Amino acid sequence: MAKQTGRKVAKYQVIVIGGGPAGLMAAGQAAGQGAETVLLEKKSDPGRKLQITGKGRCNLTNIAPLPDFVTHFGKNGRFLRTAFHRFFSSDLIAFLADLDVDIVTERGGRVFPADEDAPAIVDALVRWVKRQGVAVKTKSPVEQLLAGNEGIIGVRVGGHELHADVVIITTGGASYPATGSTGDGYRLAASAGHTIVPIRPALVPLETAGNVAPRLQGLSLRNVRVRVRIDGRKRHEDFGEMLFTHFGLSGPIILSLSGKIVDALRLKKKITLSIDLALDWLSWRGTWGTGLIKSVILFLLLPGFIWMLPFALYRIMASDVSISTYMKTFGIAFIPIMASAHLAKAILKISSRIPYWDVSLNDPIGIYSAKAILEQTITLSSNPPWLPLALAMTALVIVLSGTVLSIITIKRTAAKVFLNKNLLSIYYLIPAIYGGIFIIMLFAWCLHL
Ligand SMILES: Cc1cc2nc3c(=O)[nH]c(=O)nc-3n(C[C@H](O)[C@H](O)[C@H](O)COP(=O)(O)OP(=O)(O)OC[C@H]3O[C@@H](n4cnc5c(N)ncnc54)[C@H](O)[C@@H]3O)c2cc1C
Repeated sequence: MAKQTGRKVAKYQVIVIGGGPAGLMAAGQAAGQGAETVLLEKKSDPGRKLQITGKGRCNLTNIAPLPDFVTHFGKNGRFLRTAFHRFFSSDLIAFLADLDVDIVTERGGRVFPADEDAPAIVDALVRWVKRQGVAVKTKSPVEQLLAGNEGIIGVRVGGHELHADVVIITTGGASYPATGSTGDGYRLAASAGHTIVPIRPALVPLETAGNVAPRLQGLSLRNVRVRVRIDGRKRHEDFGEMLFTHFGLSGPIILSLSGKIVDALRLKKKITLSIDLALDWLSWRGTWGTGLIKSVILFLLLPGFIWMLPFALYRIMASDVSISTYMKTFGIAFIPIMASAHLAKAILKISSRIPYWDVSLNDPIGIYSAKAILEQTITLSSNPPWLPLALAMTALVIVLSGTVLSIITIKRTAAKVFLNKNLLSIYYLIPAIYGGIFIIMLFAWCLHL
């Protein structure tokens, strides 16, 4: 309850300026501790921004453990640790449960209200604040802090003075002014002697040059990796969802990278983004070291394993051939099948603009082409209708020829040194495995014609 002094100045113990989520929590907690509290909100109702959060669904928090949670706040994360030790996501969830708000946890640990209704969260908070005994005054824009000998003694609002022992500023940032956050808090804090660090956008979509983004407008990508190069050097990257808009790029990973990009732009640096469509399970390809490991597996270990398989099987059943004899005679046996398989693959690849053989693309124009071809908004009119099938048949003949050539080579060379003729079929495993894999891939390709 407000008290009236002799000069008819209302006096509270706590004044909270701004009725966003921060102000509602601060006012409710202060009143819960027994302080006479007033909440002053500039707009006609509190929590305007909260009402539109998470596209109206309100992404309340995340269940990630504290060490992981703070990393998402960049270098400010360490500063927040102490506060999070006092009140963390689990406390918020328990607090909301007390307000009868059911929650659901979605992919990535994101927590939403079960009814996906952000305005209902605002209502629940406002009801709680009022139950705590807070006087909520809307349409009450605070114009000025009032200073006394011992510090801030109150505020001026609508031409009137309100006094309090404590004044809490929770006026939000300067983004989305229509919701009431017009940056008043910075001016008020500066008037009380605080140093204000220049503000800049932190979670914003990005405008891009050229017309690629507008042409891809509406295309939403999941499980992509975005890499940010600043003056040509890779500086930041993130993995997740993004989308193309009429002006550029948006979506969760773009927003989370935007703060660093904005900082670099202010320093007049040259920024380039590369979008890697690698699937999640392939995303480890990113670094030099992992690229090397992958190459060793693909080009040394795997062929080496296939190459040595017949020898190992043969030695298990008979032991009359040495490794050096096997190496000498078997060395050339696989050249025909490997050469023919790769030739067939190259023919199919150059004959199609659909990136069938590549799991990932690194440039948006490639993505655009692939999407448009699949949606048939771009038709490959230069190819006569019979050509893909003819190419597939040609590739099949090449692969079969390579398989047969390998088998003949094995018969003429390796089979001579293997003494046990009953085990002859083992020799042909390699052309069979290689040829088989490529013939299956050819069938898959034909299904996409
Ligand atoms: C589109 C959008 C979607 C978002 N989605 C999410 C989400 O899903 N999850 C999430 O965690 N965060 C989300 N956010 C961020 C989140 O909304 C803010 O972090 C949060 O609202 C900040 O709370 P606040 O109380 O500090 O400030 P605000 O919510 O901005 O509240 C500040 C209040 O102070 C009032 N005020 C300002 N000046 C004065 C004054 N002089 N006198 C009196 N009152 C004043 C304003 O009217 C306002 O009501 C989103 C933000 C936007 C813009």
